[in-house]
Amino acid sequence: MPANAKPHIAVIGAGAFGGWTALSLVRRRARVTLIDAWGPANPRSSSAGDTRVIRGTYGPDEIYTQMVAHALELWKECNVRWGRTIYHRTGAMWLASGGDDSFEEASIGALERANLEYDKLGPDEASHRYPQINFEGVKWVIYEHDAGFLSARVACELVLKELVRNGVDFHIAHSKPGLIQDRVMTGVELSDGSTLTADQYVFACGPWLGTLFPDVLGHLIKPTRQEVFFFGPPAGDDRFGHENMPVWLDHSAEVVYGIPGDESTGFKISDHRQGPAFDPTSGDRVPSAEGLAAIRKYVAFRFPALADAPMVSAQVCQYENTPDQHFIIDRHPLADNVTIVGGGSGHGFKHAPAVAEMACNLALKDVRPDKHFLFSRFA
Ligand SMILES: Cc1cc2nc3c(=O)[nH]c(=O)nc-3n(C[C@H](O)[C@H](O)[C@H](O)COP(=O)(O)OP(=O)(O)OC[C@H]3O[C@@H](n4cnc5c(N)ncnc54)[C@H](O)[C@@H]3O)c2cc1C
Repeated sequence: MPANAKPHIAVIGAGAFGGWTALSLVRRRARVTLIDAWGPANPRSSSAGDTRVIRGTYGPDEIYTQMVAHALELWKECNVRWGRTIYHRTGAMWLASGGDDSFEEASIGALERANLEYDKLGPDEASHRYPQINFEGVKWVIYEHDAGFLSARVACELVLKELVRNGVDFHIAHSKPGLIQDRVMTGVELSDGSTLTADQYVFACGPWLGTLFPDVLGHLIKPTRQEVFFFGPPAGDDRFGHENMPVWLDHSAEVVYGIPGDESTGFKISDHRQGPAFDPTSGDRVPSAEGLAAIRKYVAFRFPALADAPMVSAQVCQYENTPDQHFIIDRHPLADNVTIVGGGSGHGFKHAPAVAEMACNLALKDVRPDKHFLFSRFA
């Protein structure tokens, strides 16, 4: 490559991680080709759906609190640049409702060091602020001021628009990694029979990474089936809209979380526990009666006014879990010109702009990957 030529990077996968990585690369003046089998935030992808929570409360995993603080600034910029509200600042309440609150205690220090503003509320004060919530069993609450939610699918679509405006070649095609010889991947095979060659390849294929790279990722990224339910508050009752209550996460043994509704969505609730194994390509996406019954029981307890609220919609999605729930942002162990970015493990979306900068650095420069996200931690 001539010294002044732009490096050519092929990014495979246009979801939150791949789309934002392509954007970081373009901003660093790389030439980018972006490939996706179905398109950004398509209904099978992990970035599908309207909304995602953004919060900095991460217990002892302070790296994520730091990354959220940085990503928040980048999400705020999106609102200005795209003239659309992608980042919704509703605040978020983290309810410490289990016996052990060491996770919450660790979060407080991390939030302070990341300069993310918060209040520590007792259950009485929280109940005074939000009487529509039953705080029974809640020991205390972290209220994060700048937390809230992101418009997920729209953000992925706007990232693609910006990429195309900046001359990125975007193609719908299924891709297969090519041969690796002498630590170099020689190209990527596309479903139209052609081969795409580039200086570097970034694979951001979410829950499909394990099947694309069975030898190195098959045992490390496992998709699980997750259900999300939306309930319709009573007519004229605006207490459960995002003007009147924040995003919330209820941490007892596990985490149940939700996003207040707006005029186009219901009141969103999901159980963060990992579901059974799921095939993102062929899995049916019909919510289960048991899942609905369990969530209804929870809703009746924590949001008594919604006890009889109808379910107005539901989604089945998948998490792409690593064994320790931490991301993988690293070079392929056998190919120096391949970067892998994935393993969002049910919490990746909010970090996408920050994750993208790390992946972009690996593709463009001879830098060492961040130690938290290395393959070798599983060795
Ligand atoms: C129900 C649910 C709720 C969640 N809630 C939150 C939340 O509140 N906050 C948060 O931060 N995170 C949340 N997450 C996690 C977050 O959404 C994901 O971690 C993130 O979207 C993963 O993005 P990705 O780009 O890695 O994967 P994807 O969005 O799946 O993108 C991968 C892309 O690769 C393409 N692809 C795959 N294989 C190929 C191939 N061979 N050739 C070409 N293209 C290919 C796919 O079509 C897809 O578009 C949630 C996830 C789910 C499922």
